[in-house]
Formats: sequence, C-alpha cells, structure tokens
Amino acid sequence: MAEIQDLKDILSNPRKIAIVGHPNPDGDCIGSMCGLCAYLEAAGHEVKMATPDRMPDNLSFITDYTKSKNFLYKESEPEKVSAMIKEADLVFCLDFNNLGRSKSLEHDLRQCGAPRILIDHHPFPALDEFAMAFSEPQRSSTCEYMYDILKELDKSNGTRLLGIECANALFCGILTDTNVFSNSVTPRTLSIASEMMDLGVDKECLQQKVTGGYRPERLSLLGYLLENSLVFNDRLKSAYMIIDSATKKRFDFRNGESEGFVNIPLSIKGVEFSALFSHNDDGGTRVSLRSRQYPVNKLAEKYFGGGGHLKAAGGRIDMETEKAGMYFEECLEKYIMDEKLFELNEDSK
Ligand code: 5GP
Ligand code: MN
Repeated sequence: MAEIQDLKDILSNPRKIAIVGHPNPDGDCIGSMCGLCAYLEAAGHEVKMATPDRMPDNLSFITDYTKSKNFLYKESEPEKVSAMIKEADLVFCLDFNNLGRSKSLEHDLRQCGAPRILIDHHPFPALDEFAMAFSEPQRSSTCEYMYDILKELDKSNGTRLLGIECANALFCGILTDTNVFSNSVTPRTLSIASEMMDLGVDKECLQQKVTGGYRPERLSLLGYLLENSLVFNDRLKSAYMIIDSATKKRFDFRNGESEGFVNIPLSIKGVEFSALFSHNDDGGTRVSLRSRQYPVNKLAEKYFGGGGHLKAAGGRIDMETEKAGMYFEECLEKYIMDEKLFELNEDSK
C-alpha cells in the first residue's frame, strides 16, 4: 500500500490533476472528489473532475465547495473528458476499485501516461492497475478515508489546507455511505465527524441538504412500489422491488431518486436480503443488493457482473427488468446452498 510520503512527494510541485469517479456517482463518490479537489486547489494545483454520467440533482450542491467549475460528464462531453485525462500529470481514481468499474472512462484511464492514484474503500482492489493505491475496506466511506489521508498530508507538510470547504464535501459522503451514521460506522468515523464539526461543519444543515432535497414524485414512486411491486420470499428470507420502464415514465423518474429504497425491506423481521431492479436506458437492468449479514458482493459478482461491499453491492444484467425478480430468486437459492448460508426449508417450497 502507498505511503503518505509518496503522495507528499508527487504533490510537491503544482500539477494538472484529473479526479475521476464511478458511474451513477453517489454522495461518497462526489463528496470525495470535491473534498480532494478543494484541498488540492488550496495547495495550488489545477484540478478538473469527471464521472461517466450525471450526478443526481439533489447532490449537485456538493460541487459548490470547490472553485473548479470543471465537473464534466463523459456521456455529454466525451472529447473534453478524454482531453482532460490525457493532459493531466496525475489522475486520482476515487470510490471504485478497478479500472473496469469506471466503464466509459476505462479506455481514457488505461491510455493516459500520468500516474493513476487510487483512494477507495471497496474490497479486492486491482492494485496492479495503479501507480499508488490507498485502499482500506474497513472504512465507512472513501470520504472518511480521504479525511485521514489529507490530515496526514497536512501534518507531514506542516500545512492546514484541510478547511471547511473540504470537510463539508467529505461529510456529505460519510452521511450517504453510512445512511446517516446507521451502518458501517466505526469509532474513527464518529471521531472524524466530530473533528469535522469542530472545523465548522453544520451536521443538521448538510443532513437536510443530502436527505431533504427530493421531489414529491420520489415519495409517490416509493408508495407505488411498496404497494404494487414488493415481493417477499420467506424461504429465501428475501424481498425485491422492480422499477420497470413504465413505472419510470409514470413517475417521471430522475437519476438518484430511488436512493435508499433497497434498504427498506430489511426493516422487516426475517428479511436477510433485499434487491432493487431498475430499468436501464440501454435496455438492461441495474441491480442493487443489500443484506443484514451475508455477503452480497459475491452474489453481485457471480450473477450480476458487479461487486461492492459485504452488505451493499450492485451490478447490471442484460435482461428485461420484468424478468429480473425471478432470476434473482433462482440465483439466490443457488447462492444460499453453494455458500451454505442457512438451511432452506423444503416444506415452504
Ligand atoms: P447501489 O446499490 O447503491 O447502487 O450500490 C451499492 C454499492 O454496490 C456501491 O457502493 C458499489 O460499491 C457497488 N456497486 C454498485 N453497482 C456496481 C457495479 O456495477 N459494479 C461493481 N463492481 N460494484 C457496484
Ligand atoms: Mn463509497
């Protein structure tokens, strides 16, 4: 694993820096990108940022914490993003663990001559794809880890560049990845939150911004799904919901509006696995998986071409969304048996 000294050395001269994140960027991805950007700008570097596709509207306020007005999307400005990565002296890859996961950015990232630096908290990082890798899967979020890295960097340089702008951005990612401090939280997560509040972060205000900025259509969609789509399976201890293309149209669905829905069925006693399947504009299906205790990253990897964390994972399948529920139950049954997770009650088959 890389050392802070390596990072200190590479940042010792002003650089042209590209920061990139993953598709469907979430609060942790955007927060870590903008937090790092704010820090690097304070240190005198020139920074640009890009993700494959758009961030949800309710999270776009996080970019206000940076001076850089360059937050580009590969889907809308492909040439500019390719040029930005090509011209960079240094590329930071945040909140994903291998180049393949960056999808439409993968080619640009592989082609670029500049060192790629990984900062991430997903298990099984592809270390050989990066010149320098900071990977700590026990961290609640990339933002939490970023805070400690930047704090160390300040200590080592004798500077105080980690200021309120940076902390505000990073706090947003901790809020979203921990589901407002309800999962993956360690003592260090709470110490960092406390340190950030000492720096001036207003927890209530950011929590309002992150969780209270949705359109009413989101609640209508949730009500509709709970009423019409939720399917429980007692034998498999699972539940799933489906957002098909008709439902998307009906509620004028926007990216990010189903955030958190997949966690809801886990509030039911006995439910160990929850899944959400959403129609993708490319005709396939996006998959979100959650569990109380069993590894769903392995399930995502084996059957849905994806991966993620032990209790929160995702992927994509080339299948009509309407069929995904049945496919999920078939896969889950095999998975439970192969991994010997628990005895399946044959009576209720
Ligand atoms: P979500 O269900 O919120 O979209 O994703 C939960 C987690 O699963 C993400 O934080 C990410 O770690 C992982 N994940 C989601 N989609 C994919 C995917 O397509 N590939 C991989 N490798 N991981 C994913
Ligand atoms: Mn994350």
